[in-house]
Amino acid sequence: MSHFVYMNDRVVPAAEAKVSVFDHGFLYGDGIYETMRVYDGVVFLLDEHLQRLHRSASLIGLDIPKDVPGIKRALYDTLQANALRNAYVRLTVSRGYGQIGLDPDLCKEPTFIIITNEFKPYPNTLYENGISLLIASTRRNLKEALDPRIKSLNFLNNILAKIEAKRADAYEAVMLNDAGHLAEGTISNLFFVKEGVLCTPSLECGILDGITRSLIIDLAVRNSIGLREGAFLPGDLYRASEVFVTNSTMEVMPVSRVDSSRFTVGYVTRLLHTHYKHEVNAYVSEKKGEGPSLWQ
Ligand code: PLP
Repeated sequence: MSHFVYMNDRVVPAAEAKVSVFDHGFLYGDGIYETMRVYDGVVFLLDEHLQRLHRSASLIGLDIPKDVPGIKRALYDTLQANALRNAYVRLTVSRGYGQIGLDPDLCKEPTFIIITNEFKPYPNTLYENGISLLIASTRRNLKEALDPRIKSLNFLNNILAKIEAKRADAYEAVMLNDAGHLAEGTISNLFFVKEGVLCTPSLECGILDGITRSLIIDLAVRNSIGLREGAFLPGDLYRASEVFVTNSTMEVMPVSRVDSSRFTVGYVTRLLHTHYKHEVNAYVSEKKGEGPSLWQ
């Protein structure tokens, strides 16, 4: 646990970082968040995460009580207060304190929180051998019911799928959409290789447009790996030659099993993960070169 948390307008000791029981984030899951990874003191793809944060905010009619330089300063102040260079960052903005009732106007001021923790690397054996996935019976929220472009505090859909995975001793669950097409993991995007082509569910399948997913697609294109974004069935996944999932903290995580189908960690997975790490290194060097501008 970190010692300091950013709360609304300042860094406070973690023990003092308390949110009201009337906060609509707590009462209704009314709010948004971003999870980011910090490498050697640099928040990776920070601008992309902040753009998505603002998109989420605008889709729920929430005004973030800080401008972009203010958010960046708050992030780096929190990392500095905790003396963290390799970290996990969770930035949450909830609708704020207000009387009970769904009306957002009951809340005068959003609650703005940044939690940073030391990054505990995933065990190497997971990258070497892969994780197991379960195709959950819990379907992904209908995109017309809850826009997946909103990275919201409402996570019960994903938690129900995660519970299924845990009960089956699987590491991550893959959810299908209402049409029965592959959608995404509970906290990750899904990729697989079929006949040499990298396949991933398209955004129309009702998924979050993961920032890692976008970078992986970009890297595939730049490295002349065939790419297909589309609507796929579980059978496509079972018959794949390689499977992996992505997110900002796991990066590229190989998959060794989906239900009862088994996979070995393949060439495309390793290649893309290597390229991803190069991107991280290049980004970190470039941002460090900019020096204090990180804090502006
Ligand atoms: N899909 C869902 C539902 C997620 O919650 C996440 C990350 O939290 C992702 C995908 C991956 O997103 P990113 O690559 O931006 O971390």
